[in-house]
Amino acid sequence: MELDLADEQERTRRTARQFAEGEVRPRAEEIDRTDEFPLDLVEKAGALGLMGVIVPREHGGLGMDTLSLVLAVEEVSRTSATVGAILSVHNFLVCDPILAAGDGDQKRRYLPPLASGEHIGCYCLTEPEAGSDVANQTATAVRRGADYVLNGSKIFITNGKAAQVALVYASTDRQQRHQGITAFVVETERPGFRFAKKERLLGIHGSACATLFLEDCVVPASNRLGAEGEGFKIALASLDGGRIGMAALAVGIAQGALDEALSYAKERTQFGQALSRFQAIQWKLADMATEIEAARLLTHRAAFARDHQPRCSLEASTAKLFASEVSHRVTHGAVQVLGGHGYSQDHPVERFYRDARMTEIDQGTSEIQRSVIARNLLGL
Ligand SMILES: Cc1cc2nc3c(=O)[nH]c(=O)nc-3n(C[C@H](O)[C@H](O)[C@H](O)COP(=O)(O)OP(=O)(O)OC[C@H]3O[C@@H](n4cnc5c(N)ncnc54)[C@H](O)[C@@H]3O)c2cc1C
Repeated sequence: MELDLADEQERTRRTARQFAEGEVRPRAEEIDRTDEFPLDLVEKAGALGLMGVIVPREHGGLGMDTLSLVLAVEEVSRTSATVGAILSVHNFLVCDPILAAGDGDQKRRYLPPLASGEHIGCYCLTEPEAGSDVANQTATAVRRGADYVLNGSKIFITNGKAAQVALVYASTDRQQRHQGITAFVVETERPGFRFAKKERLLGIHGSACATLFLEDCVVPASNRLGAEGEGFKIALASLDGGRIGMAALAVGIAQGALDEALSYAKERTQFGQALSRFQAIQWKLADMATEIEAARLLTHRAAFARDHQPRCSLEASTAKLFASEVSHRVTHGAVQVLGGHGYSQDHPVERFYRDARMTEIDQGTSEIQRSVIARNLLGL
């Protein structure tokens, strides 16, 4: 049961669930095993509007709210965290900042192909020396006439090798640290823009996560998102959304793991009875379900806050911190319920267990979320 979902939010959830069950679930194991980006599924998601959930209709999207996008990410991640991550990054960290900070021409140029799924987006913020300390950007953008010349490298870029459009953060004035960071929308086919090796990750296989090199990459000034020095503000505002998306991903993974644990506990017999008859297993399942519901409510509340408040960093970090740690505990519990089968690659809980770990790291580790929450509480 869901409190007060509007008809169109319920419709988006239904669409996402049908897509997840009909198209994604049958492919989830193969995507994990082969580490291949599921381009065909992204095309299908695009045809259903799931690549542009929050993009206004005038720019080719569904024109829905943040909660609708959260419901979609949750449903898809319940079957494949990889496909959930692709959708979440694309919608929250590429479409949303272009929508929020782009000028009319940029919105007209970039949003329709992103919303239809014809183009895939990635965001490029993390660098070898700028992880949690994201203000320590060393990639540079130097103005040259009507252009900027970008140099530097970025790591861990989800969707990277599959993307046509990248949101790149670079420093236009290193002395100014975070106030010298500027955002650019860069077409990935530009000379000097090169994705090198694909990252070899514990989970989220198939997300085309890669290292980027910028080598004298010339970008017209008309591709600059916002003014010079506004990049950090744009990044933080879009990370509020991204973190809500990550919380939705974590809730979806946890729900997927619980679904598996429930059906296994009913089927598997030991000592002459189903596992579900043992109180130890019952209590584990009850704790898992309770934690997921709490994480879901925090995530949905954060989504609501995103659409009704100027900023929602506190709500976003709270939801991400709690949901990602719930996802960790629930997938751990699901492996335990399945025993040896939970540790086997023949069963999806092994994949959920690996995928869940990412939600405690990407878009700010749990330590960074705790710092954001504490800063908000203490007014620092
Ligand atoms: C699967 C995956 C996908 C990703 N996708 C993207 C993407 O699409 N685009 C992108 O730009 N980035 C992406 N990232 C990068 C991600 O955002 C960073 O990995 C993350 O922010 C942490 O940075 P780091 O890895 O450099 O860790 P570090 O910052 O080096 O942190 C290492 C440890 O130190 C702790 N720590 C650091 N500073 C503090 C502090 N002040 N107080 C307390 N503890 C601290 C951290 O919490 C962590 O435990 C991705 C990462 C992963 C794993």
